[in-house]
Amino acid sequence: MFQKSIAFMALSLALSYSSHAAAKHKLLFFTKSSGYEHEVISYKKGQPSFAEKIFLEFGAKESWDFVFSKDGSKFSPEYLAGFDAVIFYTTGDLTTEGTDKQPAMSPAGKQALLDYVKGGKGFIGLHSASDTFHTANESKKGQDRFQNHGKVADPYICLLGGEFIMHGTQQVATNTVIDKKFPGFENLNDTFAFSEEWYSLKDFNPDIHVLTVIDAPKMEGPAYQRPAYPSTWAREEGKGRVFYTAMGHRNDVWTNPTFQSILIGAIHWATRDVDAEIPPNLTKSAPGAMTNPTYVAPKPAAVPAAPAPAAK
Ligand SMILES: [Zn+2]
Repeated sequence: MFQKSIAFMALSLALSYSSHAAAKHKLLFFTKSSGYEHEVISYKKGQPSFAEKIFLEFGAKESWDFVFSKDGSKFSPEYLAGFDAVIFYTTGDLTTEGTDKQPAMSPAGKQALLDYVKGGKGFIGLHSASDTFHTANESKKGQDRFQNHGKVADPYICLLGGEFIMHGTQQVATNTVIDKKFPGFENLNDTFAFSEEWYSLKDFNPDIHVLTVIDAPKMEGPAYQRPAYPSTWAREEGKGRVFYTAMGHRNDVWTNPTFQSILIGAIHWATRDVDAEIPPNLTKSAPGAMTNPTYVAPKPAAVPAAPAPAAK
């Protein structure tokens, strides 16, 4: 008993020491949901979300100081200047209050984010960051949602490097690791596989450096009936560093060592603790990536059958 309490005290002292040490980096984790609100970033009874608790663990180990926010109205050059990198787990058009009724970002706030990254800071998009600021505000999953827009895609999508189309049912899918030299990927196997809500993505910026490729069309469901495509990548936007991974829907993905290694590596890279070579490799790593799944129009509502002519 005595031994245990000594060990506990030592642990507490270590934790309080690291929380008082100067933070190596200040990071904003922004989780406003103007569209669908994910379980993993939702607040219950005033407690940090599941994802925020994971970031607090990372922060204690790495001396990272996290600010958690869903308030879009704070976005301005001055506000963003306080962070080394911004991490998005968002949905929808953030310039609207939308689903979670948290304050909207102003158009100037959105521009401030784009300028902040271009000016040399870091941006990390997780999972539904690609289901955010859809091109031409495509709110409906109609035919347009299945088209690539290239340079006329929303500036946020161009910055992120790709856009969410749809997802099928959760399933185990295999991802091939393309670059083991990238921070966080050094100790991964050649492939990894686990159950996730895998995103089918489009409109890849041709300048992305692909880090993982998902093995569509071997997956189940029409969303994945397409050639293999990137699920994680890095790129540069002006002087800034951008990282995206489609992973992060499920709680057990957030506790998965592969996801955690990728995420911690991404933060080290985005905050310039480490450098990496990131030449464009889309056509080499995923030659069919720009081929999207086929749009299937929803069946028209059944028209009630005409009444049978009265029997004579
Ligand atoms: Zn999701």
